[in-house]
Amino acid sequence: MKKIKKWLPLGLLAGLALFLSGCGASSVADQNILSAAESDNEIVWGVKYDTNLFGLYNIADNQVEGFDIDIAKALTKEILGDDGQATFVEVTSKTRIPLLKNGNIDAIIATMTITEERRQQVDFSDVYFSAGQSLLVKNGSSISSIADLNSDTTVLVVKGSTSADNIREAAPEANVLELENYSECFTALQAGQGDAMTTDNAILLGLAQENPDYQLVGGTFTDEPYGIAINKGQEDFLNAVDDALADMVADGTYEEIYSKWFPDNEDGSVAS
Ligand code: GLU
Repeated sequence: MKKIKKWLPLGLLAGLALFLSGCGASSVADQNILSAAESDNEIVWGVKYDTNLFGLYNIADNQVEGFDIDIAKALTKEILGDDGQATFVEVTSKTRIPLLKNGNIDAIIATMTITEERRQQVDFSDVYFSAGQSLLVKNGSSISSIADLNSDTTVLVVKGSTSADNIREAAPEANVLELENYSECFTALQAGQGDAMTTDNAILLGLAQENPDYQLVGGTFTDEPYGIAINKGQEDFLNAVDDALADMVADGTYEEIYSKWFPDNEDGSVAS
């Protein structure tokens, strides 16, 4: 009898837990992300950790830095108030949508192009940055535009990026090698595993800045408007992000962040 009494509350608790998980209380789609963020005083952002200028992990400071990071911090303040907490989780081009859908992050702000295909899976904020796809090659390379990419050349891309699809259309003859993230991709270029690397000009610019032996060539051959991705069915949060972005543009916060990271460009896009 004594034993039964001791185990009864535990049994009830286990039953309750089973009931709660069974009735879908933990489903991401059922939670109001804005209300949850307000009660936790925190927004969890999926960001790049290996992309200079947008989201790059700085070992010395033990923090991630870049344009996307500063925009996320400012959005968090606009939405939650000055003591609102922006928390960052690393994503890659391939992992960002699954991590959002699983509820590991509240939003993606990670050099992500708004596309119709992605709109089937997630919602996007208004455009907050305009890039375009380009090529990065070693100085002195014989490749000066996509017209030079043929069956004798290999182009390096990142899995899950629009760049991987676009290059197959723009240079169907070229060999394409897909890697996990941008640091792997650039390491492969340095090691001679490919003749060129392709992605957004803004990302390539960040690599060329750190590695002056490499340069962008050929201008841009696509439009890559960046948006913040949010799970479907989260209109309150999506509207809060769009309102906050508009306020940041109106009060000059956006411009301040933009010119901190892209001081040579004034039109909200990056020249190649
Ligand atoms: N903006 C492109 C994309 O969303 C390339 C950059 C990236 O891989 O994040 O796929």
